Amino acid sequence: MRDDWKEQRNQIIGLGENSFKKSYYPELQEKLSELETSYKNLKSIFDNVEDGIVLHDENGFVYFHNRQMSGIINTGEDLGRESDINVSELFPDEQDKIKMLGIWKDVMGSIPKVISTILTPIGSDSKIHVQVSMNKTVWYGRPLIVAVIRDFTERAKFENQLVKAKEKAEEGERLMTAFLQNISHEIRTPLNAIMGFSGLLDESELEPDRRKDFISIILRSSNQLLHVVNDILTISSIETRHIKLRENKTNLNELIDNLFATFKAEADLKGLELRHQKGFSDDNAEVYTDLLKLHQIISNLISNALKYTHRGSVTFGYDLKSGEKGEFLSFFVKDTGIGIEKERQQIIFEKFRKIDDKSGTLNGGMGLGLSIAKAFADIMGGRIKVESVAGEGSVFYLEIPYKPIY
Ligand code: ADP
Repeated sequence: MRDDWKEQRNQIIGLGENSFKKSYYPELQEKLSELETSYKNLKSIFDNVEDGIVLHDENGFVYFHNRQMSGIINTGEDLGRESDINVSELFPDEQDKIKMLGIWKDVMGSIPKVISTILTPIGSDSKIHVQVSMNKTVWYGRPLIVAVIRDFTERAKFENQLVKAKEKAEEGERLMTAFLQNISHEIRTPLNAIMGFSGLLDESELEPDRRKDFISIILRSSNQLLHVVNDILTISSIETRHIKLRENKTNLNELIDNLFATFKAEADLKGLELRHQKGFSDDNAEVYTDLLKLHQIISNLISNALKYTHRGSVTFGYDLKSGEKGEFLSFFVKDTGIGIEKERQQIIFEKFRKIDDKSGTLNGGMGLGLSIAKAFADIMGGRIKVESVAGEGSVFYLEIPYKPIY
């Protein structure tokens, strides 16, 4: 049918090359050359439009396309007339093809359409997001569809990034609000205790034992408050990148002994066994490292282990291990506590995260300890990780480069 039309048209207007040469009528020749020129002009205008323009029939067969469409329908050929190229091939999915046929039928029934869709250029696997405006037109006496195609791929990518950025900002705001509520709780609780019990100390008939109890509550609350303030100051220094690595000669066994002494009373109070392990003998335990950061990371981990363990033990220590990049120090804190579900094992290292965690809320804390530990581990050229089974316990590892003193 389409071939018949081509032949008829060539015979009538002499556009076919042979019939053009055979034409004996100078006037007709002149008209033909005008026609050719106006076609070329039209084509050159279309080629300079930024959008893709394609003329096709209601079955998708292409009759004309501009330069912008060449890459999409995979032909550089200047068709100028009907071709075997079919735009329905731009929709590999059968359902989409059927949908497009319906739309083309409507357009041919003089109902213009504008759709947003995804095309797969012929002969390629890539996808392009486009907006297609379709209208009915007449081309060399034949009713066709003129489709103007605008590539939105970059815009779609950009929109996607914007949506992601918006979600991230909203999530950040949500976490920050919860963090601020939490922080005010964490500051007020010890502060109220300090103020309340300080007032009670003033009472003249207070028994010495009661006075001692009150003083110990005041001291404990002050420590808690100091801890909160320290964490907030540390996280803001990390955020503003004011934290530097300061490595000095450090005796690891002394560090372990100090930590043991610090946490022993707390463990006893909870009826937990506190154990420690040293990887080097006391004489060989000196290395170059940032003692303050190392101390803070491990005390955060031990403090958490004690917080989230209600029976059993907490063991901490270090070992020298070797990996692909050479020897490294592996510190560990192991507990027999509540454990952490697999899906939460990554997010607990993100700051302000504890708000989603009911057990954490009951146990107090601002959800900053692990994010500080992770940031410090990064600064020290190391990493922190956790292995845990919910209900059975957790092991936190801190791996840092081994820098021996020769
Ligand atoms: P915080 O202890 O103040 O909540 P952290 O950043 O130290 O903040 O810990 C984040 C969360 O990780 C905690 O709220 C808790 O849910 C979980 N977590 C940390 N350490 C342990 C542990 N040893 N056992 C079980 N859960 C833990």
